[in-house]
Amino acid sequence: MKLEVHEESVMRPESVRCPSCNLVQFKSEKCRRCKTSLVFQVLKEEQPEIPRESVDRSRDFQKCIGANVRRLRKQKSMTQDNVVERTGMKRTYMSKVENGRLEPTLNSLFRLADALEVDVIELFSSERELMTERLLADPFIAEAARLTEAQQVQVLGFARQLAGAK
Ligand SMILES: [Zn+2]
Repeated sequence: MKLEVHEESVMRPESVRCPSCNLVQFKSEKCRRCKTSLVFQVLKEEQPEIPRESVDRSRDFQKCIGANVRRLRKQKSMTQDNVVERTGMKRTYMSKVENGRLEPTLNSLFRLADALEVDVIELFSSERELMTERLLADPFIAEAARLTEAQQVQVLGFARQLAGAK
């Protein structure tokens, strides 16, 4: 009896299949047989598939961090150069972080937080949390937020009456 061995079953993690001639071989830059570039294939196999949604979310988050850095810096009346001086970062790095064009390292996040004299967690506030904070800064809304749900319904009904009576 002849044992049939499919190439698939003998493919080791360190091997790669040439997309052009199908030769299974050790990972390298070019196919041993037809010289087709295997770089893309190698990268594709080494990196697990990242869901599109999480890529978008992390990009949004990157932008959010950048916006927070800029907002906090302006609140403290600091220039980018001030922050650069305090953190020892490069100016281009700093500006890329603020523009959300670069994913800051954990270490640089702590350095930024120190320079801006805030807790590092403040760099992570989402737009929604900031909006809630701004809303709750309004004394009327802050008071309304402390009412029970039933009381809120009453207040709303009363407000509608007033608006209608105008
Ligand atoms: Zn090949």
